[in-house]
Amino acid sequence: MRMMKALVHEKAGRPNAGIKLVPYPSCKDDEVIIKIMACGICKWAEINHDTVGGGGSLAKYPVITGHEFAGIVEEVGKNVIDLKPGDRVTADNAVPCGECWYCKNGKPLFCEHFGSHGHNRNGGFAQYMNIAARNIVKIPDNLSFDEASIAEPVACAVEALDRADIRSGEEVIVSGMGPHGLILAQLCHFSNAQHCAAIGLVESRLKTLKSYGLTTVLAQRNDPSVHEAVLGKMFPNGVDCIIDTSGAWPMVQSLMKFLRKGGRFVQYGSYHAQIQMDNPAKFLNDLHFNNQKYIGVSCQVNNFPRAIEYMKSGKCNVSSLVTHTFDLDDYFLALDTNKTDKSALKVIIHPNGDIEA
Ligand SMILES: [Zn+2]
Ligand SMILES: [Zn+2]
Repeated sequence: MRMMKALVHEKAGRPNAGIKLVPYPSCKDDEVIIKIMACGICKWAEINHDTVGGGGSLAKYPVITGHEFAGIVEEVGKNVIDLKPGDRVTADNAVPCGECWYCKNGKPLFCEHFGSHGHNRNGGFAQYMNIAARNIVKIPDNLSFDEASIAEPVACAVEALDRADIRSGEEVIVSGMGPHGLILAQLCHFSNAQHCAAIGLVESRLKTLKSYGLTTVLAQRNDPSVHEAVLGKMFPNGVDCIIDTSGAWPMVQSLMKFLRKGGRFVQYGSYHAQIQMDNPAKFLNDLHFNNQKYIGVSCQVNNFPRAIEYMKSGKCNVSSLVTHTFDLDDYFLALDTNKTDKSALKVIIHPNGDIEA
């Protein structure tokens, strides 16, 4: 029997996971097999899988994790018409059920039985994976596999951009300059907004954005009055929309004073285990009295084609996001690097070595 290497989680938690030899997947009629050339670590999702008792609401074990992948078509099922072996591809990891109330009402994003490769279906930390052909998106020649594997976070950012509904001439702040903020700041810069400022703690990341023509503001964790003075000058009448990817509640508190009446607050980062909303009712009351809108965005479906177009055009440049690459055998070292190395943005696994990556 043909075998392959994969990161298998029997259940959540590192003691229950390991790199194993497992059978090469079989290709159903409507599926393709991808030879995975790059699979990115989505930090919080993979830490969740790595935590005993963790996994998150989507997880179902045993599973091969990894939901940000790109590679080469190895095999196509007999009903597949538009793909052939050798095609360079990425794929939407989302698999809405098609049967629940939300799916039947054209809202697959809110599917009650949301399938997701890397959470409850096998994902990309493996040499090969099978996936429905309808999920596949071809990648242009000017994107490497590493870059193309970042299509998933870009697709999620596209969802946030849609839901933020930025109108012509608006002013916007994007906060938190991890991978998601760096992506969203670029999307907002090229949106209808007439001015978007990216605020974050790491100077080198802001420098990269500046080189793309974006306005940046250095955040001061210990003395927010410093960045507040800068923002106050930049936006004397406040902004129409704040998109927060920081996951840092003190940052949100610092920024909310710049949200205009009638403005929109988009929560894109989760406030992991540190929700210090000493008075959540006050936050809601402030939204209420200022006639502001709260918008929660946590995932996407069907945005991959647009994500790839943004990346292809360079309007969303993800090349600087790739900070580390590792072999599949070194998965746990890669995850620990992602957790502890402050320079890490996207840490990417190469299950089939470095060729063509
Ligand atoms: Zn992800
Ligand atoms: Zn559904």
